[in-house]
Amino acid sequence: MFETLQDRLSGIFETLTKRGALSESDVNAAMREVRRALIEADVALEVVRSFIDKVRERAVGKEVIRSVTPGQMVIKIVHDTLVETLGAEPEPVDLQAVPPVAIMMVGLQGSGKTTTTAKLALRFTQEDKKKVLMASLDTRRPAAQEQLKILGEQAGVDTLPIVPGEDPVRITRRALDAARLGGYDVVMLDTAGRLHVDEELMRESVEVRDIAKPHETLLVADALTGQDAVNVARSFDERVGVSGIVLTRVDGDGRGGAALSMRAVTGKPIKLLGTGEKLDGLEIFHPDRVANRILG
Ligand code: GDP
Repeated sequence: MFETLQDRLSGIFETLTKRGALSESDVNAAMREVRRALIEADVALEVVRSFIDKVRERAVGKEVIRSVTPGQMVIKIVHDTLVETLGAEPEPVDLQAVPPVAIMMVGLQGSGKTTTTAKLALRFTQEDKKKVLMASLDTRRPAAQEQLKILGEQAGVDTLPIVPGEDPVRITRRALDAARLGGYDVVMLDTAGRLHVDEELMRESVEVRDIAKPHETLLVADALTGQDAVNVARSFDERVGVSGIVLTRVDGDGRGGAALSMRAVTGKPIKLLGTGEKLDGLEIFHPDRVANRILG
């Protein structure tokens, strides 16, 4: 995901470190190059602008220019500013609430929502030793409920039995009741997606939210869609309210812009990364590690 950006930045920094002493105009020239690399990586313009301003402000201080290794100092400043842009500290999904803790999964169709629901349920089961119930509220896509059931069987996680003809609100109520009666720690609600953000999708998500009162609402977004992923996250947050973001397909050939813009544009943390189709393809998002990956 970050290979191209990493190549571009390492080229820029190599030139910079080779120069030895740096003038303000050297730093400015390097920043122009970094700016171009970020724009090519599909990072939102407002994020690029504020990133470059911060780095420049920190780097043109006399300390850097007079230092013995000014290039290294600029790289350190870029690294620290990247970490800050990505969100500083990891923010894991929070399960600290009275059980059954409801987790609502939202996002567009094809973003990886159902797969992520099962991946996360598996993680809660194995690592947090929680008893998890999953329910699919997707009554529109014919095979969606069946898909979650199959994933549940693979993951060894219970799914709410399917009742044909039920609407999402009824399924939500039944899932909450089943979770309570069955002594589950976590109940995961996999809501329906659409190909685009539309009014009906939002209304349905709000309705489910009001009934389930989720402790976390996770927006699943496809990293390969770049700035569209960021716009989708913003729309969901405005209408439904989002507590965190899962960025999927970071194993794919994207340009990295979604990861870099998400936090700054939406103000919401990326909590997890989807790194493959299999159920173990889920990682906690560490801003520091991602910054290291970007800088090579
Ligand atoms: P939904 O419509 O949002 O529920 O999407 P699905 O969960 O059905 O996922 C759509 C496709 O994307 C499936 O083929 C998944 O296996 C695949 N997928 C989901 N997450 C990832 C990921 O992180 N990486 C890759 N490479 N594929 C993924």
